[in-house]
Amino acid sequence: MTLDDIKVQIQNGKKIVILTHENPDGDAIGSSLAMYGALQQLKKDVDVIIPEVPRCFKFLPFADKIKKESKEKYDLAIAVDCANEKRLKGFEDYYENAKVKIQIDHHGVNTMFADYNYVDPVEPACAQILTKVLPYWNIDITKEIGTCLLTGIITDTGGFRHSGVTAETFEFAAWILRKGVNVSNVYRNVLQTVSKSSFELNTIARSRMEFYENGKITFTYITYEDEKKVKAETGDHEGIVDVGRDIEGVEVSIFLRELENGGYKVSLRSNDYVNVSDICLMFGGGGHVKAAGCTITSGTLEQVKEKLIAQTKLYLK
Ligand code: AMP
Ligand code: MN
Ligand code: MN
Repeated sequence: MTLDDIKVQIQNGKKIVILTHENPDGDAIGSSLAMYGALQQLKKDVDVIIPEVPRCFKFLPFADKIKKESKEKYDLAIAVDCANEKRLKGFEDYYENAKVKIQIDHHGVNTMFADYNYVDPVEPACAQILTKVLPYWNIDITKEIGTCLLTGIITDTGGFRHSGVTAETFEFAAWILRKGVNVSNVYRNVLQTVSKSSFELNTIARSRMEFYENGKITFTYITYEDEKKVKAETGDHEGIVDVGRDIEGVEVSIFLRELENGGYKVSLRSNDYVNVSDICLMFGGGGHVKAAGCTITSGTLEQVKEKLIAQTKLYLK
């Protein structure tokens, strides 16, 4: 199965849907919208369905085309930036029953859930895979598509800072800048500017920061009550897990977010040597070596915290 096979499937697709993971981040939205623009260029009948879009991504080209839901039947479904079917938003409604299922992704723990899996775990963002795949399919990376791809790259690399960044990351940024995309503006919109609620959530989480194992592990959390109090919107918790990670001496940062129906969404980040994807895998999640997550539905905050810290300790030098 090659990129050529996937192109043939896309060409044969009559009614196409693009989907991505729940709690979508910049790579999820940017890759979805870039793919939407690409399929439009191929004159395909295509929908992109993402029920919840963080406000900071609404400026993106094609964002006004995003549907929250749909009654259509799709014969071809494409998933982007999603490691497994459990996290794929709309899996049961739109993906499962499509005649042909394609996915493009960069998670090392990808379960290869599609008929056509194009997964490259070396790439720092799904959007960076698309910077190569789209031209291979003779799709022109316009300013609009480029802006969406740049968004995925900037957000998944933490603004060109993470270790996964490659020379190609900067080459694409330089190329798209020359093409006239305001890189600085995109950067500010998707990474720098935060909503007031996001700032308030961040402040609460900072005030609760705890240190373990001689400062190698940080732990903090926000409750559902906190989110209600600050009138948080989708995505307002983004960035909190980085606060702990960026403190000198810290190897692993743990952040818990209480979910509306109970349970906790866990985010882990590491700096040098701990593979947090391995830790999250033990709790049914996954991700990348230095950024991973899982959802834990049983236990109190204290119990979940103890479990995570105990597991993390085993990986510290
Ligand atoms: P997060 O902490 O939610 O920002 O996620 C960090 C990384 O881990 C992202 O690449 C996610 O796609 C991935 N991830 C988060 N939760 C899960 C999960 N339950 N299963 C697999 N991958 C996950
Ligand atoms: Mn993502
Ligand atoms: Mn990604």
